[in-house]
Amino acid sequence: MENPYQSAVSQLEAVANKLSLSPQEVEILSRPQHVHKTTLEVAMDDGRREHFPAFRSQHNNARGPYKGGIRFHPQVTENEIKALSMWMTWKCGVVGIPYGGSKGGIIVDPRALSGAELERLARAYARWAADFIGPWQDVPAPDVNTNGQIMAWMVDELEKVWSQKHSPNGTVNIRATFTGKPLAIGGSHCREEATGMGALAVLDNLALRMGWDKKALRIAVQGFGNGGYWFARLAGESGYTIVAVSNSKGGIYAPEGLQAEAVLRHKQETGLLAGFPGSSAISNEELLALDVDVLVPAALENVVTTENADQVRARAIIEIANGPVTPEADEILRSRGIISVPDILANAGGVTTSYFEWVQDLQGYFWEKDDVAARLKKVMDRSFSDAWAIYETSPGLTLRMATYMLSIRRVVEAIRVKGTLP
Ligand code: NAD
Repeated sequence: MENPYQSAVSQLEAVANKLSLSPQEVEILSRPQHVHKTTLEVAMDDGRREHFPAFRSQHNNARGPYKGGIRFHPQVTENEIKALSMWMTWKCGVVGIPYGGSKGGIIVDPRALSGAELERLARAYARWAADFIGPWQDVPAPDVNTNGQIMAWMVDELEKVWSQKHSPNGTVNIRATFTGKPLAIGGSHCREEATGMGALAVLDNLALRMGWDKKALRIAVQGFGNGGYWFARLAGESGYTIVAVSNSKGGIYAPEGLQAEAVLRHKQETGLLAGFPGSSAISNEELLALDVDVLVPAALENVVTTENADQVRARAIIEIANGPVTPEADEILRSRGIISVPDILANAGGVTTSYFEWVQDLQGYFWEKDDVAARLKKVMDRSFSDAWAIYETSPGLTLRMATYMLSIRRVVEAIRVKGTLP
């Protein structure tokens, strides 16, 4: 498979060409500013000491502190983390929040660890990263296989390290270093449903621009985890018809529509989506080829490929998953008139709400749930309009290219005004 970092650089070069960036600007944006790596040593419950390679890539902070998740996964690679850090820079640029991009990861299968081992690993990562993360340096968040509990352990560890250094007789509160925390220690309302809420705002905007009646729109969602479930639930509640959902074990189809909350209850009771009353079982491949108006990949990368892009019958794709459409498949979809709202816009509701969490922590003033939701909607509406304005006025450009142009232009503007001389 292609090196993800090389793909990210090729993508940058294509956009840089359209924006006529200087070779020096392309050079600056092609490389992360810092790539930290180490091997963490952790005591196992049986007394052995195990070693886990760990990374933090900080791509560019021209627009503000670095921002990006930390993933725990056996297939983490340095190149993947570097690519993801670059995509975070673009994602923060699209929604206009004052952050640059970063990403972290540990090569580990978290399912093979006990709770105590997982906690020691999380704490070891925070101790190692203490010199280069912080509210005004780099702000991590949950990502694949990490969650609010892991952020809570990391915050606690970081506060211990900082307190020893800067306040030996007291405790430093630096909770704004991490987002996606539990509410009890400075988390924000709506963080859990934020990505689904953001994707719904994007769909509302798309339907408006295309002149589609939401009541007539039929939607299939691949992936029924955090992003997919909340999107399906909120979209259904707002009047769209969710006709299919799936997870790693397969999917279900109900032409009259599915109620996501009821499907979740069924899944929790039986362990499967299949068997949900009134639905028929379908495979993930069948879901991607359903006769629907909108397809929402919300599971994995590279699910729409040259193998199946000509079978997609949807009119639009909303990319909740990161990188669900390969570049070659994207070209096929484009030639067939299928419009894709790219991941860096469609799933940016999560990072936008992380930004709100950081702002609330820094202010020590916490917003009501309605406030968070309303502010998120405003940011998503504005971001969609900004990308659409470029798309609409540039014949031949895809919405994906227009969105990248919007974002990279913002990052370059920050680099230019800061100046690059020593
Ligand atoms: P999650 O782990 O909560 O859910 C993933 C879902 O995908 C699960 O239902 C799982 O069963 C399903 N799945 C796994 N393998 C599958 C397969 N082969 N076929 C079909 N379904 C499969 O993850 P999530 O947080 O919802 O993230 C999903 C995607 O959205 C990822 O690409 C992630 O990077 C992206 N994303 C999520 C957020 C967020 O805030 N949750 C933010 C930005 C991007």
